[in-house]
Amino acid sequence: MIIAIDGPAGSGKSTTARAVARKLGLSYLDTGAMYRAVALQFIRQGLDATDEGARDALSNLELQLAPGPDGLVVSLSGKVVTEEIRTPEVTAMASKVSQLKAVRERMVDEQRKMARQETDARRGVVLEGRDIGTVVFPNADLKVFLTADLAVRAQRRAAQMDSGEERAIRKEMDRRDHRDSTRAESPLRRAPDAVEIDTTGLDFKDQVARIVALAGERRRNNRV
Ligand code: C5P
Repeated sequence: MIIAIDGPAGSGKSTTARAVARKLGLSYLDTGAMYRAVALQFIRQGLDATDEGARDALSNLELQLAPGPDGLVVSLSGKVVTEEIRTPEVTAMASKVSQLKAVRERMVDEQRKMARQETDARRGVVLEGRDIGTVVFPNADLKVFLTADLAVRAQRRAAQMDSGEERAIRKEMDRRDHRDSTRAESPLRRAPDAVEIDTTGLDFKDQVARIVALAGERRRNNRV
């Protein structure tokens, strides 16, 4: 079974996808972590987020991804970078390199390959990102589009990071969302057949339960 969860920054995709995967005994694949790892490669090589930069970054990219119930363990050139890819510098670069066609093509290939392996090895996978339901797996068994008010998303992210910089976080999130939604390649948008869940006033447990229930329905109907 393949479950696609898309949505803007800070809409709760990661925590929700992880909890849903755990409840259903599926793997969890955080595709943002992959774009972040590529961004780190750009930074390490001192490359600009251009097509030329992408050629250089991808030509010697040694990206290892180990999916599991808690998320992806990401290694670059043989070293785990799971923490390093969460810095503001990497966040900003990921938002830029994810616009590049060559980067997207390579990541989408990897995502499909990994999801297939996981589906063979376990009962399926929950993928979370921006273009999972529209581009990566347009035939996913269940598509969810998570949204929440920008102010609430910034508030949650600030709390998660234990940061008092809520206004700066809000501005940065808005900028990233704008870039993701207006880009030429695989823009962030809800797939027509995705179930939209606005988590602004929702209790976390309820939103997870809702997706788990939807997955149960699809499983019964599609026998996946
Ligand atoms: O989800 P996360 O914030 O970790 O993603 C980092 C960046 O990677 C996003 O700002 C977005 O630009 C990009 N991304 C993407 N497509 C995905 C996942 C992430 O373009 N499927």
